[in-house]
Amino acid sequence: MSRVRVRFAPSPTGYLHVGGLRTALYNYLFARRNKGVLLLRIEDTDRSRYVEGAVDNLIRTLAWAGLEYDEGPGKEGGAGPYVQSERIATYRTHVEMLLASGNAYYAFDTPEELEEMRKEQEKLQVPVREYRRALDLSAEDVRRKLAAGTPAVVRMKMPPGETVAFEDIVRGNVEFSSDGLDDQVLLKSDGYPTYHLANVVDDHLMGITHVIRGEEWLPSTPKHVLLYRFFGWEPPLFAHLPLLLNPDKSKLSKRQGDVGVEEYRNKGFFPEALVNFVALLGWNPGDEREIFTLQELEKEFTLERVGKSGAVFNVEKLNWMNTEHLRRKPDAALLELTRPFLAGAGITNVSDGYMLDVIRLLKARVERPGEFVSTGMYFFRDPGSYDEQARKKHWKTETAPRLRQALSGFRDLASFSPGDVESVVRTTATVLGIGAGGLIHPLRLTVTGVAQGPGLFELMAVIGKETSIRRIDRGLSVLG
Ligand code: GLU
Repeated sequence: MSRVRVRFAPSPTGYLHVGGLRTALYNYLFARRNKGVLLLRIEDTDRSRYVEGAVDNLIRTLAWAGLEYDEGPGKEGGAGPYVQSERIATYRTHVEMLLASGNAYYAFDTPEELEEMRKEQEKLQVPVREYRRALDLSAEDVRRKLAAGTPAVVRMKMPPGETVAFEDIVRGNVEFSSDGLDDQVLLKSDGYPTYHLANVVDDHLMGITHVIRGEEWLPSTPKHVLLYRFFGWEPPLFAHLPLLLNPDKSKLSKRQGDVGVEEYRNKGFFPEALVNFVALLGWNPGDEREIFTLQELEKEFTLERVGKSGAVFNVEKLNWMNTEHLRRKPDAALLELTRPFLAGAGITNVSDGYMLDVIRLLKARVERPGEFVSTGMYFFRDPGSYDEQARKKHWKTETAPRLRQALSGFRDLASFSPGDVESVVRTTATVLGIGAGGLIHPLRLTVTGVAQGPGLFELMAVIGKETSIRRIDRGLSVLG
């Protein structure tokens, strides 16, 4: 078989949907695994949906995710241009071919007539063939109307009573009746092609071997299969990826959470984690493994392991994966990722060494880089309040005098290592005849303001003697 060529063909609507990321990823993985070529093609023929800057944004987002394409905008191969609005003449030529072979026709419906038909179609739930009255016009009439500048579209002429069948790699044999398909517009009155025409023409001219895309395009596929036939072309192989669902099994929607890749990026999710997460939305490795790097996925991915049933987009799972990827990252990499959050919180004057200590202590406790700053705020600022529950639980009448005793031990320390802090706490507890917990919990409350965190001795050592003592002092006066 010829070399695998696949494409990711987004419409630049302004942002990359997580479903789009999955489509891009599966195409990327399929190309890599088969030593093939991945194209990026921009499907921007719907001028009403044009969004300034959307293409750049898309390319940036793909790069962030690590999904490099081989041909596309900015990476010319032999099959370009890769932006459909730059290929208008090509579509025009191909429409002429279909008109000549009688598989397409001009229709002169006014927008009002079309609206009328659309309503009727909705009511009857079957395709309306009324626009075919254009077929009653003589060739001469058509020429005259066109010459007079009458707005016209070109429609595909659906053959009657036919079963259009194709083999889908994911779904198996798929069949549609041509009677259920309307006479799809191929060329709009503005001279731009519709998705269907441009998509088929480009997939053919760009040598695409496999069309891997979301299930929402399945109903369009019989139209495409017919177009391939009208042109006398061999269709590519199709693989339609299962729908992405909300946890309640409805179609994934903005209303139930974020769907833009950028939104996850902005929240501090790692590209590795998001990619790992979407990889498993429809594909599985055949065993229990869940954590994969992109390189591992490149080796393992096959379309045969893509399932038919909808895949639930479970944000908790994404959180968990993000944590797993975070734990695997070197501290220095996390330091870089944390910087914007420090700046965002207005925290300056934090040395790299200090921040690396914070990262070391919190690495097992956070899910995202931003949490090194938000959860770990006590590393940067004295507590402004004290956790009410911890206070009720750990702050008794006898607590203050006990802490004062530990405090004087801390003041006497010449060095403030975790071991030094620990020995003061343990010695004081022994002298008081209590368990070390009787000091540790209230100390943590005064030093951090919260009930949970990394080991107190290490934490105090990182914060330092002066700050620890200041906070314990203040806690004693506030908490009494
Ligand atoms: N432009 C379509 C989209 O936005 C491409 C569908 C396809 O891959 O054929 O998803």
